[in-house]
Amino acid sequence: MHGAILSAVDFVGGLPSSAVPCRQFENAVLDAYDRRCAVCDFSLDLAGMPLGLGAAHIKWPIAGGPDQVQKGLALCGIHQATWERGANSLALGSAGFRILVSSALGDREPDLDLLRLPARSLRLPADFTERVSAGW
Ligand SMILES: [Zn+2]
Repeated sequence: MHGAILSAVDFVGGLPSSAVPCRQFENAVLDAYDRRCAVCDFSLDLAGMPLGLGAAHIKWPIAGGPDQVQKGLALCGIHQATWERGANSLALGSAGFRILVSSALGDREPDLDLLRLPARSLRLPADFTERVSAGW
């Protein structure tokens, strides 16, 4: 959340540029996903501004992940944290994209439902041109 807060107030001093999401990328991804988490459908706003949602790169920017809407996911704070720590990844199967969960991820809150994520498919943008494509 620190990066999102600093980005919202246009403060980038002291952080590597790869740690601060490009606002244009973030807005495009959040709009493409109708301001809902692609994994759990979480959606919350405060005075019209998304709250607890962010745009994650499918491939980390430090590894060359581009700021393209097709290469991003709208994720809630929990799923963004697990994604960015490498506890989740995507797999493309015959039924579409599925969320993979690391076996190292412990879920001590039964209501959090993180460990049942593999049964879920990824919710994709309505606009086909904005959907995740394989080959990230
Ligand atoms: Zn979520």
